[in-house]
Amino acid sequence: MLLNYYIYAKLLYMKINLCPNCGSDAYIKSGIVNNRQRYKCKSCGYFFTVNKLGKKIDDYYVNKALQLYLEGLTYREIERILGISHVSIMNWVKKYNVKRPYKTDYHPTYKILNAQELAKYFSDAANLTGAGVLVTELGDKFMLIKWERFKD
Ligand SMILES: [Zn+2]
Repeated sequence: MLLNYYIYAKLLYMKINLCPNCGSDAYIKSGIVNNRQRYKCKSCGYFFTVNKLGKKIDDYYVNKALQLYLEGLTYREIERILGISHVSIMNWVKKYNVKRPYKTDYHPTYKILNAQELAKYFSDAANLTGAGVLVTELGDKFMLIKWERFKD
């Protein structure tokens, strides 16, 4: 859940605050277009959706979702972690023609840790014996994905 708060805070921070046409800060929500909030400027009547920073956020989560999919996580797990609908993820997998190279019987476990917790985790050799570990950035935290293929 922490991660979703992070996304929320980041979206608030990057909130559109000026009309791209006239620079007014008076705008109202005006429907959803292609899954994006559309706004209407009250001063000049111009419609706009998200700014370029919004697009960057989108790309970031498309990449993360596909990365987690490749690591063997299920659509539902990715939905839970990133707060993105499993339908969107399925569409991206199809759109980018992403195929998993291995069978899913090596299902990984995962933890979401901050930098300090991550350092502590790696300082204990027992955590690393007999398992593969991958770390990926996730918002302001890190996700540690672990395969226990070699453990019974
Ligand atoms: Zn305007």
